[in-house]
Amino acid sequence: MPTKTFQEYIESLRKLKPTAYMFGENIENVVDNPRIRGGINATGATYELASLEKYRELVITISPFTGERVNRFTLPPQSIEDLVARVKINRILGAYVGTCHQRCTGLDCLSALSIVTFDTDNKYGTHYYDRFLDFLKYMQKNDLTANASVTDVKGDRSLAPHEQPDKDLYLRVVEKRKDGIMVKGAKVHQTGSLSAHELIVLPTRAMGKGDEDYAIAFATPADTKGVIHVVGRNSLDTREIEGVDCGNIRYSKYCPTVIYDEVFVPWARVFMCGEIDFSGELVGRFSAFHRQSHGGCKSGKIDAMIGAALMMMDYNGTSKVAHLREKIVDMITTAETLYGCSLAASYEGKREPSGTYFINSVLANASKIHEGKELAECIRLMVDITGGYVADLPSDRDFSNPEVGGLLKKYLQGAAGMPVENRIRMLRLVEKMAMESADTISDIHGGGSPAAHRLTILRESDLSYRKNCAKRLAGIEES
Ligand SMILES: Cc1cc2nc3c(=O)[nH]c(=O)nc-3n(C[C@H](O)[C@H](O)[C@H](O)COP(=O)(O)OP(=O)(O)OC[C@H]3O[C@@H](n4cnc5c(N)ncnc54)[C@H](O)[C@@H]3O)c2cc1C
Repeated sequence: MPTKTFQEYIESLRKLKPTAYMFGENIENVVDNPRIRGGINATGATYELASLEKYRELVITISPFTGERVNRFTLPPQSIEDLVARVKINRILGAYVGTCHQRCTGLDCLSALSIVTFDTDNKYGTHYYDRFLDFLKYMQKNDLTANASVTDVKGDRSLAPHEQPDKDLYLRVVEKRKDGIMVKGAKVHQTGSLSAHELIVLPTRAMGKGDEDYAIAFATPADTKGVIHVVGRNSLDTREIEGVDCGNIRYSKYCPTVIYDEVFVPWARVFMCGEIDFSGELVGRFSAFHRQSHGGCKSGKIDAMIGAALMMMDYNGTSKVAHLREKIVDMITTAETLYGCSLAASYEGKREPSGTYFINSVLANASKIHEGKELAECIRLMVDITGGYVADLPSDRDFSNPEVGGLLKKYLQGAAGMPVENRIRMLRLVEKMAMESADTISDIHGGGSPAAHRLTILRESDLSYRKNCAKRLAGIEES
């Protein structure tokens, strides 16, 4: 049973018993919790698409590791074609769910580990790659979802991990045993951690001397003893709990803080332990893959936003207004530039010694910087096109109230022939896509802060080549 259906994915999550809290209360049934279920459904779309004939060929491929059909979200890219497919699927999914589908981060971790465990073994004679391959095959055979546990809480940002007054502010090894390691720490902004079967922990930054206990990578089931998920607030979250005015009636996003309160990890699941010189490479590779993923899914989300804006023009009777059509052009241009940059990062990819293909990191980071600025601009344009009701639309409960409902529907009527109920639904969707903090803020910080994207671009761009171009043109000759 190499690939799961949507329903099989849901049932597989039911078998897990994670420790989870939200609004100060323990949640026993995560899968049916209305706040979390929207996020689970969004990840479930990656399973659903695999079952649909239209998308099956793009989503399902053969794994060279198992020889079986697998969902691409479990396969580190083995060719340029695979890199390109990642972007295409993410774009389709972004538009399909209108938010974050939350399954790319796990694949980005698997992809980074498939490169760096191999390189580490080559240098140190360790056996991380074989362990990693065993884990990868397990993920593929069971069609599992993983979350990326990368971002540490970090305490005082000016101090290295080992310099922090509280030593647990970066996740670390507290004990090495014969059978495995005990770890302690907390990872934050953990997109979809309760929609995942496995959590993949990577270091959050390059480590230096003294940080050996923090140079750690491993995988652990999401319901391991000692792992505590505390679901964070998101604007509009209580609407999901109340089951009213949700806007996106199917999908949503949530990001818990995940505490590792002394968690045991067997050696078979440990992929880095103390190799400080590879920690920067591991997080760097993860981030680059993740920034490429964003170019796909966020261009897809813009597609959904463009659709909503066009529908609002139909409902408002403004579909022929020239300045609004120009704004649609701007939104399309942003989506295509983002997509194009991410595709270019894929086409310029290269094979690494392990056989995994790595993207062109400068192009992937350029794509992410573009997203951070221009997605906010697309939201602004969508709201401009839609009108002020994005801010203060009355509740569906008012629309169904016998006293004011009829009056509201009379006065919210738009262009003739357009059902007022549809106009109201679309207004609510625009509000969700514009205001859902978990998704809109990931455009800026997801995959690292904007400064991290810029640093990578500076570090990995060939500056001397550019200087030489200019010197040749200016007639400057230096030995
Ligand atoms: C919605 C959302 C989803 C996310 N999903 C995930 C996920 O699934 N998994 C995961 O692991 N992470 C996830 N992240 C985390 C994301 O990678 C981080 O938010 C990002 O790396 C910034 O880290 P921070 O939030 O701790 O902010 P900080 O690191 O505190 O950064 C704040 C600002 O200070 C600057 N800064 C901080 N330290 C320094 C320094 N030493 N020198 C110079 N400048 C500095 C930064 O550049 C930034 O401008 C997500 C984030 C968001 C918002």
